[in-house]
Amino acid sequence: MDKKVSFDEERCKGCELCIEACPKGIIHLADHFNSKGFHPAAVTDEEQAKCTTCLLCARMCPDTVIEIFRPERVAR
Ligand code: SF4
Ligand code: SF4
Repeated sequence: MDKKVSFDEERCKGCELCIEACPKGIIHLADHFNSKGFHPAAVTDEEQAKCTTCLLCARMCPDTVIEIFRPERVAR
């Protein structure tokens, strides 16, 4: 399944604002560190399916780390 939400790990500072913003509670901090020494935010492949692409996490992120992929809407 294609990802709905992705994180530019190297730019993340692990501030957890996106975690607080997500109404589905699917964002967590990864166990590993990025090159700046922060645990980056992440969503597991299994949890991707629960993402509603609501954009709340991306709007909250102060460093534009988060990209949301929405399916194309076809005009009728
Ligand atoms: S787009 Fe919405 S549901 Fe998906 S991870 Fe972000 S806040 Fe959570
Ligand atoms: S809000 Fe942005 S910088 Fe903060 S943890 Fe989430 S993705 Fe990282």
